[in-house]
Amino acid sequence: LAKERGRNNGQFFSENLNERIKKKLQVEHGLHKALENNEFRLVYQPQFELSTGQMIGAEALLRWEHPKQGVISPVDFIPVAEETGLIIPIGEWVINEACRQHRYWQDKGYNGLLVAVNISARQLLDETFTATIERAIHENGLYPENLELEITESTMHNIEESLPVLNRLKEMGVSISIDDFGTGYSSLAYLMHLPINTLKIDKMFIQDTGRSPKSDAIVKTIINMGNNLGFNVIAEGIEEASQVEYLEKLGCQQGQGYFFSRPVEAGELEAIMITKVPQHT
Ligand code: C2E
Ligand code: MG
Ligand code: MG
Ligand code: MG
Repeated sequence: LAKERGRNNGQFFSENLNERIKKKLQVEHGLHKALENNEFRLVYQPQFELSTGQMIGAEALLRWEHPKQGVISPVDFIPVAEETGLIIPIGEWVINEACRQHRYWQDKGYNGLLVAVNISARQLLDETFTATIERAIHENGLYPENLELEITESTMHNIEESLPVLNRLKEMGVSISIDDFGTGYSSLAYLMHLPINTLKIDKMFIQDTGRSPKSDAIVKTIINMGNNLGFNVIAEGIEEASQVEYLEKLGCQQGQGYFFSRPVEAGELEAIMITKVPQHT
């Protein structure tokens, strides 16, 4: 494993272009097979109301169970999926699977839970996207407001093009969240014009709380701005109790992170739901 990792780290300076292309083609080929052979699965990380500790929802995170290499992180294959366009069928699988799971939980009486799904900018620009979302909601009998789409801020440079799609999603009642907020391209003007429900503060800032005055100031500013603009503000990457306390004090209502739970299998999430979701029937 160490050797594997060393090689990955080295790829940027020691591997030549040919080898990089070869590796990319290998991943691309593997992704095709993964779709065919059903090698993808979703894990879920619960999200909490900080003041009460109640679970409010979960973020679906993609995993690739490679037959030879074991579990592969999305960080290692999503970029290839985006470059090759395979993110369209893979993303469609993610949406359908998350909605199917959501329906299962709804049937168990967990009605108001939010399920957040990560979406690549490339998916937003695909003409089939809104139809895919609409169908997944309709076929599973979901409340659209219980589906949240997380769009990573660093991919927002072409956000103007996606505006009609985002507006259409808003009309449908789906929630939109800006993921990794604070690390990307979005300007304050975007916050005025985009139909956003939620700002998700990037874990980089959360992990520095109490250690870096500048990071603290940024977190504080994002929370205040989000609250003043009427957005939900959620913190990702909470690892310590002190961070929960700190965020709450600053007016951040929601959070997720290893402090509460790592991403877990659907069945394991249900065990958390049983104790942390209020008033399920
Ligand atoms: P993200 O959406 O910002 O997800 C948060 C990442 O931080 C996840 O990594 C999660 O496991 C991890 N995380 C959660 N809590 C903590 C914590 O307390 N500390 C630390 N250090 N990390 C924490 P993961 O699952 O490896 O996903 C990485 C990224 O891959 C995601 O970042 C998202 O951008 C992308 N991704 C994952 N699933 C999908 C998907 O279905 N579609 C697309 N397009 N992208 C996805
Ligand atoms: Mg996310
Ligand atoms: Mg994030
Ligand atoms: Mg991210």
